[in-house]
Amino acid sequence: MPTNSKPEKIPLVSLDVAPPEGQQYKELYEGHRVYVRKTQGVFQRLRRNIAVPLMLAFFLLPWLQIDDHQAVFLDVIEQKFYVLWWVFWPQDTILLASLLIIAAFALFAVTVWAGRVWCGFTCPQTIWTSIFIWIEDFCEGDRNRRIRLDAAPWSLEKIRKKASKHILWGLVAVATGTTFIAYFYGMVPLVKDLATAQISLESFLWTLLFVVLTYLNAGYMREQVCKHMCPYSRFQSVMYDQTTLMVSYDEKRGDPRGPRKARSDYKKDGLGACIDCDWCVQVCPADIDIRDGWQAECINCGLCIDACDNVMERMGYQKGLIRFASALDLGGFWQRFKQPRMLGYSLCLVLMSGLFLNNLGGREPLSIDVIRDRGVHLYRERNGQIENVYTVKLNNMSDRPMEVQLGLAAKQGFSLSGRRKHYLEAGEVFTVPLRISIPAEGLAKSNYQIAISATHSGNAEAKIEQKVAFIAPVKS
Ligand code: SF4
Ligand code: SF4
Repeated sequence: MPTNSKPEKIPLVSLDVAPPEGQQYKELYEGHRVYVRKTQGVFQRLRRNIAVPLMLAFFLLPWLQIDDHQAVFLDVIEQKFYVLWWVFWPQDTILLASLLIIAAFALFAVTVWAGRVWCGFTCPQTIWTSIFIWIEDFCEGDRNRRIRLDAAPWSLEKIRKKASKHILWGLVAVATGTTFIAYFYGMVPLVKDLATAQISLESFLWTLLFVVLTYLNAGYMREQVCKHMCPYSRFQSVMYDQTTLMVSYDEKRGDPRGPRKARSDYKKDGLGACIDCDWCVQVCPADIDIRDGWQAECINCGLCIDACDNVMERMGYQKGLIRFASALDLGGFWQRFKQPRMLGYSLCLVLMSGLFLNNLGGREPLSIDVIRDRGVHLYRERNGQIENVYTVKLNNMSDRPMEVQLGLAAKQGFSLSGRRKHYLEAGEVFTVPLRISIPAEGLAKSNYQIAISATHSGNAEAKIEQKVAFIAPVKS
């Protein structure tokens, strides 16, 4: 609803400090420096409410221990992947593949529905850039102060402000880099090894690399990463259709633009609702003017909506001059799901999620792999018996010890010799030779399908089997 609160306080563009022209603000990349203005509003709040839990999860998860292991831990050396109470092995690659496919379809569906909202609200690059901008704002002041500070000659005050900013940036970068490496190294050993200088040179260099990348990406490169380095930003525009919700400027309502006196009847003056204050441009982390139309660089963060709504409110105009809208401007939430592309992505997403949950629920904590022993002949005859030798590889993929009983699920006449009962420690891979025999007399053919079973005491008493071939002499 429009309000008439304090319209005279609208700061027009002339009240702002413009960044100096020229090349004196060149960053690590080629281009001018973006001084992002702070804004408040619905989307800024939403971004904060999404970013804070994500960041807390990122920083705290490596400190959390579950059943004597780190809650989320990618043990590259042991080839194990701990996620809360689950332990995944290389044999579970299919689950990981399903998860990646689900994530891809979720991203496609969200992009068709609302463009680059992933970039604007949840992408780590966006979140870390926001943290670094917040620190910049805290140490050097708001946008205008930062511009003046950069233009001013070096002084003790300027050194103090710049130094405090870089120290805080550095601390965040160190916390981020070490936390990221802790997901692969283990948080407690990493902190211990770093503190006692026991860490290997390779691990130290990896940690340093992520610290430096965080510092450069969030501190300096910022929107350049989204524009030129992110592969997702390159292909996402092909997923849009006419119903995709994009942050859009209502040209019909806004143009012609121009400054005016507060409370004036701008329509009589031949003006539109846009007062040309430039706030929507100044708050944009992607450094674009949304009034020029949709642009691939726009990350749909909604900050220009917040900025413009604040201006509209102060002017006593209706909000929504910049808003989420599609080319058709359907306006209905559910209508978007009726689009064929959206339906297709959503269907795939539901199917893959169902498949993944089914696989996860039916996942066995024990794997069995039976291979014929290549060290002997195809078969051997002994005491009137035909014998085949196999190597059975058992893998306890759970995080607790397990008792395994080997057996034979075969047609009558086959017998198994060798030790049947085995005790596997948590995560142990155990290899055992196994002999299977059948009386030579009465053999009807030269090749039989048999199955070796493993009954285990995992989560519940369960049995898994693997089929193998049993080779006998060819009957003449
Ligand atoms: S669109 Fe809104 S924020 Fe942008 S210049 Fe016009 S009035 Fe200002
Ligand atoms: S144009 Fe608006 S929505 Fe797009 S990136 Fe800039 S501030 Fe965010």
